[in-house]
Amino acid sequence: MNETITLALSKGRIFEETLPLLRAAGIEVGEDPEKSRKLILPTNRPDVRVVLVRATDVPTYVQYGGADLGVAGLDVLLEHAGGDAATGLYQPLDLRIACCRMSVAVRADFDYAAAVRQGSRIRVATKYTHIARQHFADKGVHVDLIKLYGSMELAPLTGLADAIVDLVSTGSTLRANNLVEVEQIMPISSRLVVNQAALKLKRAALRPLIDAFAGAIPDTSACST
Ligand code: ATP
Ligand code: MG
Repeated sequence: MNETITLALSKGRIFEETLPLLRAAGIEVGEDPEKSRKLILPTNRPDVRVVLVRATDVPTYVQYGGADLGVAGLDVLLEHAGGDAATGLYQPLDLRIACCRMSVAVRADFDYAAAVRQGSRIRVATKYTHIARQHFADKGVHVDLIKLYGSMELAPLTGLADAIVDLVSTGSTLRANNLVEVEQIMPISSRLVVNQAALKLKRAALRPLIDAFAGAIPDTSACST
């Protein structure tokens, strides 16, 4: 059989950190996405290609069959499905790459614990509205969520919000903006996602790939999942 396997990746850390997993499966990507303008990258395997999409579009491509499999952050997956399991999207592996955490951060002079204790309404700016809504509902904290698409750190500094919900890895971006991490919501890592129909139809080609990925998952201390 000679079916093409399409893998959806986003440029940047996910692409970089997926390369060693691909290598373990005997797959070398022919071109560097930072240097090429191509959106479809061939590999050394004539039956395997990589498509470059926005990180938030990876689950969409895989769910609807634009790609057979892909790599997406847990943050992206939870926001994609709005908290529910997306139909047709199989998540067989935590790849333990692109590790970080989802956290609540505030300006250093904002007493978050007191605001929570007093039952105040807290204004929270975030790109991750589903994760944030669920988190504060679980805690019984009243929040007004403000949806942003980037530069969340700016929101508490300008008075747009009291707090942000954002990804944190080293914390240096928060520190550079006088923000402090006051609560960790969940550890985040990237997951392999596979189109369920493709897994049935192209099982002979996909299964060995998934198994090779599974055998090459890094044992990084940066990842707490
Ligand atoms: P862009 O930064 O180009 O706007 P993006 O934020 O969607 O796009 P990336 O920054 O490459 O894309 O992030 C991709 C994934 O990597 C995120 O969904 C998340 O799971 C993870 N990630 C994000 N920031 C960090 C970080 N600082 N450290 C480790 N992993 C991270
Ligand atoms: Mg980013």
